[in-house]
Amino acid sequence: MTTSSKNVDVLVLGGGAAGVCAAVSAARGGLKVLLVESQGCLGGSRTATGVDTFYGFYTPQQQQRIVGGIPWELAQQLIKMNAAFERKNTYGAGTGITYDVELLKVVYEDAVLTSGAELLYHTYASLVHQSEGRITGVVLANKLGLTEVSAKIYIDATGDGDIAARAGAPFEKSDAMELQSLSTIFFMANIDTDAAKKVSHAELASMMKEANQSGKYVLPREEGSWHVTPNPGVIQANMVRVGGVDATDPFALTIAEVEGRKQTQQYVRFLKDCVPGFENGFLIGTSHHIGVRETRRIIGGYMLTEEDVVAGRRFEDGIACCGAPIEDHGAGKDTRWVYVQGDGYYHIPYRSLVPQRIDNLLVAGRCLSATHGAQASARNSAQCMAMGQAAGTAAAISIERNVAARDIPSQALQERLVSQNAII
Ligand SMILES: Cc1cc2nc3c(=O)[nH]c(=O)nc-3n(C[C@H](O)[C@H](O)[C@H](O)COP(=O)(O)OP(=O)(O)OC[C@H]3O[C@@H](n4cnc5c(N)ncnc54)[C@H](O)[C@@H]3O)c2cc1C
Repeated sequence: MTTSSKNVDVLVLGGGAAGVCAAVSAARGGLKVLLVESQGCLGGSRTATGVDTFYGFYTPQQQQRIVGGIPWELAQQLIKMNAAFERKNTYGAGTGITYDVELLKVVYEDAVLTSGAELLYHTYASLVHQSEGRITGVVLANKLGLTEVSAKIYIDATGDGDIAARAGAPFEKSDAMELQSLSTIFFMANIDTDAAKKVSHAELASMMKEANQSGKYVLPREEGSWHVTPNPGVIQANMVRVGGVDATDPFALTIAEVEGRKQTQQYVRFLKDCVPGFENGFLIGTSHHIGVRETRRIIGGYMLTEEDVVAGRRFEDGIACCGAPIEDHGAGKDTRWVYVQGDGYYHIPYRSLVPQRIDNLLVAGRCLSATHGAQASARNSAQCMAMGQAAGTAAAISIERNVAARDIPSQALQERLVSQNAII
């Protein structure tokens, strides 16, 4: 039973990297947009999860910038605020842009609110109503009760493809041991970063091995990395690994949150006891939400494959470029890295944002239509934002032309994206 209802042109579910850019592009296109987010900030993995570096703007080898548009505009805003800097990546993923997580929350909120989109926090998209291949409403749950929102186009940017799945659109999900593992990100302050930087990545890994062998620490991942942030003496660490978890199962996700925090305590103790520069450091925070890399991947008009990624394949309906390597954090294994060949980037096709069976639904972000291997590359944040911009713009074109989202001419979408400084 719903207690109220609302109508908009575009309903964006999920306010992560993809949802923010989808809402901004649709609202800038003159549409009435509602952006719904279950947490109390925008950014998803980018903020609540504490992942503070945008990868994917540049190709790793050639250092060619391949993402523009709204994502680049937002990254530049952070750099102008002295809240971000460019940084080389440890594993050859290319130059990243490391930013202050708290300021990204503000930049995302400003972008959404100045675009004219309406923002709704602490609200969960739950039931989906549909009829004859079209979604007719999504039921939102929050402290007020249940509200049914109807829209002309729905954009599923939940990362998990919640809306597409509930609408009956086909999707794939790897089994728990193949799904990429989850990570609790943590921040430490009062670190002597000059001293800490003298310890190479290989030395850190062998210190972790020794620590495990001593029996005094339990460090499930004997690799992982830390890096400096825009705040002096503050570092971000990505070391925790919780594998074998299907994050669409809230019970399993709860256990993973508990395990991630426990592992964090072990890594902090290890860093302080064993690694020069960390002696006087202390933990200032763990991610509010454990980092989820992969859950549902929709089966859309085209499923991007690992072969497409490695070959640097271009598509006629390409809407974004990606040069990020495949970074597959399979449970129980070391991270698998595979690099894009050729001139270093491939296209994400529009069809990978278009689910089957439902006419007025698009997805954007890490739940795109891609195989396990391809998603491990296309999930990078610059690409999720670019997919968001493409989905918001596609929604505008679909509404203007009164055609199903899958039937909009890809050339019209590409032309409009390029006019918004996107790079294809
Ligand atoms: C540990 C980790 C490290 C990473 N490192 C990097 C890195 O260094 N660089 C890089 O570029 N990428 C990195 N990534 C990948 C990248 O951050 C993500 O793939 C990308 O940000 C995903 O964006 P998204 O918007 O698709 O999804 P998400 O960030 O998952 O956002 C989805 C949003 O939807 C909300 N939501 C979910 N369900 C509902 C619902 N039913 N109703 C309402 N709201 C809902 C969530 O709260 C969330 O805010 C990393 C990812 C992880 C997990």
